Order: sequence, then structure tokens, then C-alpha cells
Amino acid sequence: MDLFEYQGKQLFARYGIPVSAGDVATTVNESVRAAEAAGYPVVVKAQVQVGGRGKAGGIKLAADAEEVRAHASAILGMDIKGHVVQRVWIEHASDIAEEYYASFTLDRAAKKHLGMLSAQGGVEIEAVAEASPDAIARVEVDPVDGLSAERCRAWVASAQLNPAATDGVVELLLKLYRAYEDGDADLVEINPLILTPEGKVHALDAKVSLDENARFRHPEWDELVGLEKTDPRERDAAEKGLQYVGLDGDVGVIANGAGLAMATCDIVHEVGGRPANFLDIGGGASAQVMANALEVINNDPSVRSIFINIFGGITKGEEVANGIVQALSQVDIASPIVIRLDGTNAEQGRAILAGYESERLVSRPTMVEAARTAVDMAGARS
Ligand code: GDP
Ligand code: MN
Repeated sequence: MDLFEYQGKQLFARYGIPVSAGDVATTVNESVRAAEAAGYPVVVKAQVQVGGRGKAGGIKLAADAEEVRAHASAILGMDIKGHVVQRVWIEHASDIAEEYYASFTLDRAAKKHLGMLSAQGGVEIEAVAEASPDAIARVEVDPVDGLSAERCRAWVASAQLNPAATDGVVELLLKLYRAYEDGDADLVEINPLILTPEGKVHALDAKVSLDENARFRHPEWDELVGLEKTDPRERDAAEKGLQYVGLDGDVGVIANGAGLAMATCDIVHEVGGRPANFLDIGGGASAQVMANALEVINNDPSVRSIFINIFGGITKGEEVANGIVQALSQVDIASPIVIRLDGTNAEQGRAILAGYESERLVSRPTMVEAARTAVDMAGARS
């Protein structure tokens, strides 16, 4: 789960990493209030989960309330690489002497954490890696051992930063490692990490991705759910715990397993249709999960037909069929539904569905036939 910059900075602050005082705002008036509280000059920063906001005009310095008004009204609602800005972060502006780069991420192949530090910050690290790979100092950290102060100091020395930054950067990176490890992130990145003219080091940006597998030990993450989703369909699905990606077609797709869900989207394309979404309901196709999935799809006004593609495994065909029937009695569905049921006890499942078939609910034995029917039904209704 990716965080917005301001959420990343809130996490950093909890671990004692220096960040500027600031506040998040969703309107121009709120922006001015946040700026007054932070103290001028301030930076008005678009909160979207995409890099290069600066270049896109999403980051502006403001010396007074009038400038905050002008920048906030330009930035709120701005489209940055397909992301519409709904919030800005306003913080007290910093003076910059130097811009560095620092991050920790997981190196899956090495089964270790990887720290990266560079004196060439403020630009995209991929560009630095390409043009001058030697400008990135790396450290591999065994998760069992952790990062000792000695190794951290040697790592920082190898990055050849301004000597005035050394102590502050060592201290900051030890805290950043704690935020990463303890906070169950799989990425923490500060770009730029700045050295101020007064010799202080400070995180000017924050990119954080949390490890979903650790959700069970972070009740505080619940309030982050959905916040990162700008597509209302995706927000709704995330709140219901479904793996959903909104697309722009008209055939709603429900499948169990990410692979089957992808294959289902592919086959809809293959027979000349366009999926409205990708939706993986996971292993157990219980009535409640199915009802939630149908509800999310039913709320999408562009859906014209629904294709439910389930391969029974541990969850047997008859349980799946009963789940679907029960779900249909819970949710009032606007679109016709095509079901393809295969796998364990598929016959029994289809026999159950046969009792409920109508022109609005049909069952087809193969994926291709089911996809064709769903696409035809969508075409007939548009
Ligand atoms: P990004 O473009 O999405 O990575 O956004 P950043 O938060 O990294 O900001 C981009 C650039 O804006 C930074 O590299 C800085 O050069 C500049 N910037 C951001 N905050 C400040 C600030 O407080 N003071 C000054 N002088 N420049 C800033
Ligand atoms: Mn940045």
C-alpha cells in the first residue's frame, strides 16, 4: 500500500526523522490556514502518488497568503499524469544547500534489505543509476542483524557527502531504518534529503510503501485504507477487502484467483468486448464475498453485463453455486449475469444454478462461450 507524501512524513516524524511542520488541505481556505500555522514562506505540494510533481507544476513556493491562494487553486484539481490532485500538503519552506537521495527497500533476490544513498539527489534515482551508477552507495542489511551505527557510518562515508552532513545523515538513516523495519514498510525513500545552509539534515520528500502482509499488526493502517484510491469504485472495493482494479469497458468481471481474473479479462477482449474491471475474490467464494463483489460491480454505472468465472478448488462447485444464489437474493443486480463454473464438483454446482436460470442469469460450460454471451448481452444493452 503506497502512502501519500504527507502520510509518509507523519510516519517519519513518529520515528524522530526531521520533517518540516505542515498540514494537509483540501480547499484553498484550508491551505491558507495551514500556511499561517506553518509560517511563511511555505511550499504548496500536490498530494498524488506519482513522481515528478515538481516538473509538472505541482510544487510551488509561496511567500504570503495571496500566493498560497493562487497556487492552491491552481494545484487542487490539477491532473498530474492521470492523477487528479484532491489534497495539498503545505509546509514551512526550507533553504537548501545540497540535495541527497536515501532509501531502504527489500532486495528479494538477496533476501536482505538494501539501503541506497547518493550525493546526487533531487533528480530521479533511476537516472542517476543509469548515468553514474558509482554515485549510489549501497549497503546490504541482514534483517536479523539490523543496521549497526558503525556500518551506517561506513556506508555514509562511502557516499562522499559534504562532511558537514555526515553526522546528521548517519543519525537520520538509523531512524529511517527503524521506520522501515518497525513500521513494516517495503520501501522508504527520501528524495531530496537536504542539507540546509545551517548544516541540518532534513527530509523534504517522502515515498513510503507499506507491506500489506503486516496489516494484522497495524490497526492504525485501517484509516489509510481507501485514502490512496481516487477511483470511487476502487475505494469501495478496498473497503470491502477485494482485489479490484477499475477499467473502462462494460463487462463486469468476477473471478477467483488473480490468474483466472486476468485470463477472464483477456478472453473478454479476445471475443471483442471490453472488461469494466479486474476483480479477484480470492480462494473462498462464500456468499458474503460474492455479494460484496456483485455490489461493487453493480455500483459501476458503465457495467452492462456481468461475467462470473469461478474455478472450484477447495471451495466446491455446489458451495460456489449456493454462494452465488444467496448473494443474488441479497443484492438487487441491474445487469444480466453469465456464470461459468468449473473445477471441483462443477456438475453439482451447475445443477443448482440451473434451477435459477432466466434470461438475466445464464450458465455456460466454457470460458469462451460465457465470454461471448456476456459481451453480446452488454452490446444488446448499450
Ligand atoms: P517530486 O518532484 O514529486 O519528487 O517532489 P519533491 O517533494 O521532491 O519536490 C521537488 C523539488 O522541489 C525538490 O527537489 C526541491 O528542489 C523543491 N522543493 C521542495 N520543497 C522545497 C522547499 O521547502 N524549499 C525549496 N527551496 N525547494 C523545495
Ligand atoms: Mn521527490
